[in-house]
Amino acid sequence: MVDIQKLIRPNVRNLKPYSSARDEFKGSASVWLDANENPNNTGLNRYPDPLQWKLKARISELKNVPKGSIFLGNGSDEAIDLLFRGFCEPGRDKALICSPTYGMYQVSADINNVEMVDVPLNTDWQLNLEGIRSHFSDANLKLIFICSPNNPTGNCMKRGDVLHLASEFKGLVVIDEAYIDFAEQESFVNGLENHNNLVILQTLSKAWGLAGIRLGMAFASTEVIDVLNRIKPPYNVNQLTQEAALKKLNNLDGFQSEVDTILSERKTLGIELGQLKNVSTVYPSDANFLLVKFTQPKVVYQALTEQGIVVRDRSKVAERCLRITVGTKAENSQLINELKKLQE
Ligand SMILES: *Cc1c(COP(=O)(O)O)cnc(C)c1O
Repeated sequence: MVDIQKLIRPNVRNLKPYSSARDEFKGSASVWLDANENPNNTGLNRYPDPLQWKLKARISELKNVPKGSIFLGNGSDEAIDLLFRGFCEPGRDKALICSPTYGMYQVSADINNVEMVDVPLNTDWQLNLEGIRSHFSDANLKLIFICSPNNPTGNCMKRGDVLHLASEFKGLVVIDEAYIDFAEQESFVNGLENHNNLVILQTLSKAWGLAGIRLGMAFASTEVIDVLNRIKPPYNVNQLTQEAALKKLNNLDGFQSEVDTILSERKTLGIELGQLKNVSTVYPSDANFLLVKFTQPKVVYQALTEQGIVVRDRSKVAERCLRITVGTKAENSQLINELKKLQE
């Protein structure tokens, strides 16, 4: 077990958190005169539950994780930022990523003035364990970010590799599972109780189809969750978001079939892309996008843009690659048609 208390920034460990009106009085009442709200009921005139217990109760059922091991935020991006703020002393501590990966880890590190160590993925897009381990002797290394399935490469990291790192590292191992609902590999949430330094990030932004409401989830030991709760803005998840999330999670009809459709479209799209002369590689994907290596990515990107089709140019981080989200059947055919025209 990792000594979490030792990892927490001293100022955060000693912090007396803001105590909101909704924190100080718990229980039922009929007259609420404690928070300077407008008393006229609109359904939105009251501050929301700062710790989102109703929503957490439902997530706890779905994910089979105790409520106290769940943090909810304004997107997983909020959880990423709070991990830096809770555990990394600016100008001293460090975090580690394995590029190419999600850009927010680096941006969040830069905002928080935390040095980032990069141990690039191997040529098969898997973790370079020896390279990562070589930084374990650095007492200032506090966070390791592992994205699985990884954005933009699309693959899952080997389960054994991740668990080895979690067992050996004395800081936090953050596993970003934004795309886990599209993957065959099971979530690291199963087994969370064996590692108090594991933090799993999930989101309603991808498979759940709710990017607009901004709801991110972090699953971890209560010691880690308590740190995030101490430093978060008191009402970080608004009432509309809590309601929309609960509604979605209370009615799972259609969820799996939507995911299945995206998966079958991913397969078709992958095959069709693979047949194009201007495509050199379609990487295997466990997510709702494909990383595709083109002979001339810039030309393709530009031509698609002119037809009103936007994909993501990742050629700076993955040589000659564009990242293409799996769309509807019609959108995917439109994309393939435009790409076919280009090779004529
Ligand atoms: C899209 C994505 C997220 C989602 O972030 P939200 O803030 O929850 O929308 C997180 N991590 C990765 C790797 C992503 O690609």
